Amino acid sequence: MKYYHGISVTPGIAIGLVSIVANDALAVTCRSITSPDVAAELSRLDLAFKSASDSLDNSREEVSSQLGEQFGQIFEAHSLILSDPKTLKKIQEKIKRELVCAEYAVAAVFDENAKKIRALKNPVFAERASDIIDVRDRVLRYLLVVAEACGDVDDERQYVVVGTAINPSKAANLNAETTMAIVTETGGLGSHTAIVAAALGVPTVLGVGPFITESNLLDRQSLVIVDGAEGLLIVDPDSETVQRYEEKQKVLQERQRRLEAFRKTGKAVSLDGVEVEIKGNIEFPHEAELCVKNGACGVGLYRTEFLYLTAPKGTLPDEEAHFEAYKTVLQTVGKEYPTVIRTFDLGADKDPGFENIHEDNPFMGLRSIRLSLRHTPMFRTQLRAILRASVYGKAKVMFPLVSTISEWLYAKAIFKEVCDDLAEEGIPFDHDIPLGVMVETPATVVMLDQFVAEDVKFFSLGTNDLLQYTMAVDRSNERVQSLYAQESPPLLRLIQHTVEVANRYEKEVSLCGQMGSMPACIPLLLGLGLRSISVSPGMIPQMKNICASFSIEKCKEIAREALNCKTALDVRSYLRREYRAVMGNSI
Ligand code: PEP
Ligand code: MG
Repeated sequence: MKYYHGISVTPGIAIGLVSIVANDALAVTCRSITSPDVAAELSRLDLAFKSASDSLDNSREEVSSQLGEQFGQIFEAHSLILSDPKTLKKIQEKIKRELVCAEYAVAAVFDENAKKIRALKNPVFAERASDIIDVRDRVLRYLLVVAEACGDVDDERQYVVVGTAINPSKAANLNAETTMAIVTETGGLGSHTAIVAAALGVPTVLGVGPFITESNLLDRQSLVIVDGAEGLLIVDPDSETVQRYEEKQKVLQERQRRLEAFRKTGKAVSLDGVEVEIKGNIEFPHEAELCVKNGACGVGLYRTEFLYLTAPKGTLPDEEAHFEAYKTVLQTVGKEYPTVIRTFDLGADKDPGFENIHEDNPFMGLRSIRLSLRHTPMFRTQLRAILRASVYGKAKVMFPLVSTISEWLYAKAIFKEVCDDLAEEGIPFDHDIPLGVMVETPATVVMLDQFVAEDVKFFSLGTNDLLQYTMAVDRSNERVQSLYAQESPPLLRLIQHTVEVANRYEKEVSLCGQMGSMPACIPLLLGLGLRSISVSPGMIPQMKNICASFSIEKCKEIAREALNCKTALDVRSYLRREYRAVMGNSI
């Protein structure tokens, strides 16, 4: 039994067999490391070599027993290549000297060997070159983790899905029926993998470190326990531990049942009678139904870019595909509550693959509204579809990552042109769709009054990005996760300022970042003046319960105290204390 700790993303407990998700082919990127990382990288390399050697032995035995000794001997050549001490030494030297990751050094050294052999232009040797590449891939599999080695997965059964990294489009394509939990070696709380995992509502732990090779998960079907709230993974638990976690699971299920009353549609009301709207964040049209079932006051964020990420490779969704998706959501949510459709937020970690450009700093690059304004035909297609679908519900349109007034004016002008086109064509649409922007950069926060002057109708705080750009910390990089805390004092001050300015000018303001899905943060957000919060659909009843359990007076006191704290850790422990005092141990 082995314990691994990672970053807690979605609470809940899962007990099940592992299924390993493939990375994209065996693409190796040259990741730089620092001197203190060398020892860890060398031990990853050792483990991968040892695992590859064990799996070669297994393959030889299996093939020998099934097909005969002579076939088993095919693997003999592979074993000799793998155990060549010169190759291993060269790889180790490369890691130490050039400070590069193990997979890059492995690929470079084996490729170089294969190249030299091919240069001899002898067909027998050419065969050896492909053996070298086979061995290279066998080692890389353990460093990169790909699925084939895991064996067949029973389609009907539920699995704990694990991978080195599961990128957002891969996560978006996970089967909701068969995924019982998600665990990855890399990635952080702000990554879009985390967001998709929250949409699936399954227990999720990211950034665990190299547990897959370390516990030989590639070679067998192992039982694991995932405790999402604790950010814990237990590999090969003993029966006593399984029993303990089964009990815990029952308690959580019972807690869910007690939230039934909060699934009724309508606003939550604080102890002192103040109404709060809890809305749902969705990535896929079918999630709108869960929002309604869970009593949401509409959809506060529809991340439409997932339409692109789930489209067949190399294609873009056409106007009809957009239209059908928006129509489904608007019809499901209805006309009483709004559906905030955010125009596509592609780029950075959500690469649609059509630009084919490598950016060194993609989160600072051509993403979100910047990409829309560069690819206006694509942007117009989406806007046309939203407008056409608007007759089916109460649509609002929101632009992501607007950091300058010019972007806002340009996006608004394009929207107006698309409206004019539709009017000219006699196509019906809602002529009063409010246009808003996400508040995701400090630049937007400090210019808020100017955005108001340019007629922005509503604001939505995207704390995932606002935190990233305030703290200069990559939201998906587990190496700097300690800086990526939604309770960071600078973030609290930016939220406070945004709400104050919006209230001063009587503009709607809400929050749709992950902070809204963190139970202990809800009293703080209410105390900072927010009355509309959009959260993961599965958490709507719990958040309504929290709103109903505090008075706004108490929340204001909590906000005052939190704003006085100096560090994120101080804020976190203070908020947890206050939360537990009222809600008990149900974080
Ligand atoms: C945010 O940045 O807080 C947000 C809601 O947008 P996304 O997470 O999709 O970037
Ligand atoms: Mg964002």
